[in-house]
Amino acid sequence: MSAHDYLGEGFSYRQDVLFCEDVELARVAASAGTPCYVYSRHGILSRYRAYDEAFGGTPHQVCYAVKANSNLSILKLLAGAGSSFDIVSGGELFRVLKAGGDPAKIVFSGVGKTAAEIEEALAAGIGCFNCESETELALIDACASRLGKRARCALRVNPDIDAKTHPYISTGLKDNKFGIGIGEVEDVYRRALNLRHVTMAGVSCHIGSQMLDPAPIGEAADRILALTARLRSLGAPIEHLDFGGGLGIPYRESDRTPPIAATIGDLCRRAAPFGLELHVEPGRSITGSAGVLLTRVLNRKKTEAKEFVVIDAAMNDLLRPALYKAHHEIAPLRRLPAMGYVEADVVGPVCESADYIAKNRRLANVMPGDLLAVCSAGAYGFVMSSNYNSRPRAAEVLVEGDHFRTIRARETYEDLIRGE
Ligand SMILES: *Cc1c(COP(=O)(O)O)cnc(C)c1O
Repeated sequence: MSAHDYLGEGFSYRQDVLFCEDVELARVAASAGTPCYVYSRHGILSRYRAYDEAFGGTPHQVCYAVKANSNLSILKLLAGAGSSFDIVSGGELFRVLKAGGDPAKIVFSGVGKTAAEIEEALAAGIGCFNCESETELALIDACASRLGKRARCALRVNPDIDAKTHPYISTGLKDNKFGIGIGEVEDVYRRALNLRHVTMAGVSCHIGSQMLDPAPIGEAADRILALTARLRSLGAPIEHLDFGGGLGIPYRESDRTPPIAATIGDLCRRAAPFGLELHVEPGRSITGSAGVLLTRVLNRKKTEAKEFVVIDAAMNDLLRPALYKAHHEIAPLRRLPAMGYVEADVVGPVCESADYIAKNRRLANVMPGDLLAVCSAGAYGFVMSSNYNSRPRAAEVLVEGDHFRTIRARETYEDLIRGE
């Protein structure tokens, strides 16, 4: 891994000027304005392909987790590359179908699917429901019966493994709202085999997000594989295992992340004796490093206690620091040796003390008007943005080689009041 991985996939300095692929980012800011999300097409596709190729000859599906970044152009890009999709709502189903995704390669996850969403998914002919409880399974059976269909289902098992990540994004422990406990799941499969409109085709799990240690992934896989053997002996026709997403990306210069090829290779080796199709649901590790948030410095402010760099991006644009205390590197678009450094809080214009992008950060000594890139913001960035403080949501731009185009227009004031 190179020392500048935190800049992201597709982003690099050329003579102290920050580029995305062959486009100088200052050009994007001049044309699209700020704040603005910028994604590298090559960055996204190379991460997708790294997953796809890591499986080698093992039958598999790489189900991109749409919630990480659901822009239609990005979904189209991935659909064109052959991706499957992991959705968590009827809205995401709508997006994937609009983007030309193959319905048979959609898996529907999530802990609170409504009857209406389940019926939309059945009507579209999705590949599998990752089901979170016995009552949800009964609901899927009833919906399928009404539509005269059969639903392929996997139960989401909670393997009770500590993914060693932030508590807000850890999902595999037994006091979590997600999945069915590994101790009770066999009984649920046994009863589910009697449902007439459901086929128990798989087992799924997802133990957390931003995992930097590959050990829990292997441990969870072994528990799920042992369970699969027991389920088959009950007569369950298990054809696939879904290991979920969760691989981490380098948000800091010091982060070392599990390589995709080695992690997937290890899963394939563990699962090989079972002859199963393997699914994964990566979100962050496909789009996260392939995007930045461009922002302009509005002001510098000094109080008795602190120095502040006020920028035009705020918590409504990028919620992760406020929500998870997440760290994003902040890189100047022009890195001048004479600039020096400042230690400051980097904050937005929103009226909340939680509105910050970085705290006590040493960064380039930027002045009002200077441009910055908030790195690794391609996942859980724009999708979590809001109109809080009546701020129109940012534009999104996709870079390909030496071209770029707007893939979502900046919202207008009229957009703010639509529907009111
Ligand atoms: C959020 C989520 C993912 C994607 O997680 P990443 O950390 O973005 O890879 C995959 N599967 C399920 C069920 C999820 O909830």
